[in-house]
Amino acid sequence: MIFDTLKFAQDEVAALKKEGRFIKPRVLESAQEPVSVIDGKRVINLTSNNYLALANNHKVKRAAIEAIEKYGVGSAAVRTIIGTMSIHEELESKFAAFKHSEASILFQSGFTSNVAVCQSLMSSEADLLISDELNHASIIDGARLAKAPRKIYRHKDTKHLIEILETPEARKARRKMVVTDGVFSMDGDIAQLDEVVATAHKYGAFVMVDDAHASGVIGKEGRGTVSHFNLDGKVEIQIGTLSKAFASVGGYAATTRNLRDYLGSVARPFLFSSSQPPSVAATSLAVLDLLLTEPRHLKSLWDNTAFLKEELKKAGFDTGASVTPITPVMTAKAVEFSNRLFEEGVFALALGFPTVPRGKERLRTIVTAGHTIKDLEFAVDKFRKVGKELNII
Ligand SMILES: *Cc1c(COP(=O)(O)O)cnc(C)c1O
Repeated sequence: MIFDTLKFAQDEVAALKKEGRFIKPRVLESAQEPVSVIDGKRVINLTSNNYLALANNHKVKRAAIEAIEKYGVGSAAVRTIIGTMSIHEELESKFAAFKHSEASILFQSGFTSNVAVCQSLMSSEADLLISDELNHASIIDGARLAKAPRKIYRHKDTKHLIEILETPEARKARRKMVVTDGVFSMDGDIAQLDEVVATAHKYGAFVMVDDAHASGVIGKEGRGTVSHFNLDGKVEIQIGTLSKAFASVGGYAATTRNLRDYLGSVARPFLFSSSQPPSVAATSLAVLDLLLTEPRHLKSLWDNTAFLKEELKKAGFDTGASVTPITPVMTAKAVEFSNRLFEEGVFALALGFPTVPRGKERLRTIVTAGHTIKDLEFAVDKFRKVGKELNII
C-alpha cells in the first residue's frame, strides 16, 4: 500500500536503520519462562521482568481463569462510569496494605500511573517538579504533560538536589515534588531514598518514588524501596507497576486516602481510559498472595541474583553498579554480543543509544526466581565463550 502523504515514514525508517536505531523485536513463542522459545529457538531467557517467575504459575493462572468465569473478560467502561469492579477495589485495598499506605489507586500501566500523578499534582506553573536525570521515560513524559517547570538533578546526587531546592524558584514554589525511580532500570542501582526523603522534607517538598523494578523484588516481602530503607509512613507517593514481578499489566499509586480520592476525580488516565480486565486484577492479587505466603520465590530470586552477578564478575565482565537482579554487562559491542549469545542459546538484550547514553552500551540481564543453577551456569559459560571471542574479556 502506498500513500504519497506517508512517504516520510519510509524516510524515517531508513534514517533509523542507518543510525542503528531501528527496532525489530524478537518474538516469544512460549509462555514467559526462564527457558523460553524465542524466534523458534529454546533459550535461557535473561531478558524479561518476570522477576518472581510467576507469569506462567499454575496458581496464578487458576486465579485469572476463575476471575474470567466470575466477572467476564472485560469491564467495558472507565472506572468513573461503571468500570469499577469489586475486584479492582480489592486490589487497591490489598496494595495499600502491602505498601503500608492508607489507600491506593489503580491505573492501566506503570506508564500511565506516572503520567497521572505528575500531570495531576504538578498542575500549575507555580509548582516545581524535581527529577533524577535517570528517571524512567514515563516520568519524563508525565513531567512534559504537567504545567509545572521541571529541574533535573544529577543521578543520585543529593548535593545537587539541595542546590535546586535552595534556588529562589524552588523556595517560592506552590508545591514541590521530588521524583525518583526506586531501582533504576538500566543500571540496577537503588536510589538513596533515605537522603532524598530527608532532603525533600527539609525543604517542604513531597516525594514520589517509582518502584516498578522494586515492588515484589526488594524490601521485606518485596514491599519495595520504602521498606528497604525503613521509611514506612514517610514517603507520600509510591508508584508501582503490575507488569513486572506482578506478572500482569497495570500500575498503581499508593498514598493517602485524600490524595487517592483527589486522583480518582481528576487524573486523566483514570477518567478517560478503561479499567483493567478482571482477570488482570486477579493475576496481581494472586501474585501478591504468593509473595506473602510463599517466601521461596523471593528467596530464589536473590539467590540467583547473587550467583549470576558473582559468576559474571569472576569471568571478568564489568557489571557496573548494580545491586539488584538487573545486572548489566558493559560493552560497546552489545549488539554483536547479544546476537552471538542468542545463537549459543542465551537471550540477553542489547541496549544502545538512545535508551542509554553513547559510550554506555551494554547487555542487560535480568535473572528470575525460576532459573536453575544449571541454567545460569550454562548462560555464564556462553557469556565467557562469546566474551572471549569478541575480546571483551
Ligand atoms: C517498566 C517501568 C515503568 C512502566 O511500567 P508499565 O507498567 O510497563 O507501563 C515505569 N517506571 C519504571 C521505572 C519502569 O521500569
